[in-house]
Amino acid sequence: MPAQIRLFMCRSDNFGVLLHDPQTGATAAIDAPEAAPIEKALAETGWKLTDILVTHHHADHTDGIEALKAKYKCRVVAPAGEAAKIPAVDQTVREGDTVKVGSLAANVLETPGHTLGHIAYWFHADKLAFVGDTLFSIGCGRVIEGTPAQMWQSMQKLRALPDDTELYCGHEYTLANIKFARTIEPDNPVLAAREVEAKKQIEEGTPTVPTTVGDEKLANCFLRADRPEVAAGIGMAGQPAVEVFTEIRARKNKF
Ligand code: ZN
Ligand code: FE
Repeated sequence: MPAQIRLFMCRSDNFGVLLHDPQTGATAAIDAPEAAPIEKALAETGWKLTDILVTHHHADHTDGIEALKAKYKCRVVAPAGEAAKIPAVDQTVREGDTVKVGSLAANVLETPGHTLGHIAYWFHADKLAFVGDTLFSIGCGRVIEGTPAQMWQSMQKLRALPDDTELYCGHEYTLANIKFARTIEPDNPVLAAREVEAKKQIEEGTPTVPTTVGDEKLANCFLRADRPEVAAGIGMAGQPAVEVFTEIRARKNKF
């Protein structure tokens, strides 16, 4: 039976996500930005929380863990590289590990850059990936602990997933990301279409997520740093992709 997803807002712009396995009843929260909206989503769905899968140590992804674990006795799975900074961890995972949520199985992908230990959970059979603050719809996370070169590697790792993989990210930043991306690729027609779509979604109060790997490849400048037209468009024709990526990320910081 296919996985079921419940997506909702937490804090100001964090996404809360529940992943439910109808076969076993297992339910995972991907990160725990805050307990109350997650408990509300559990009450509305009737699902019982069995697992929390943590992508990285930042407070806006971990503040809800202790309260939820106290209430539901759920397992807390966290990246080995930064488990010491995350409360109540039961299991640490790294690249190549498999995490199960009932009968659903995720491959762990290490995607450093935003933080050094950041991981993504790729449920390959379900065509779902939870990418935290590494990749956003039409954007990428701030490079806080790692280097731009590491982040570019992480972009390429996520880009290599099948095109029909649905991507769930940590924040609702899409519209602001599109405004920036249009300064990098003003003539990209796919980006223009995404802007129309995202504006409509925001007006209707619906999330702009999930996106897909295939859609991001066509419109997310951070995944397109090795395309000649992107380099040429910012005056860096012929330069290495990692340099182009670094420049785009630096421009975004100042945007
Ligand atoms: Zn973060
Ligand atoms: Fe965050």
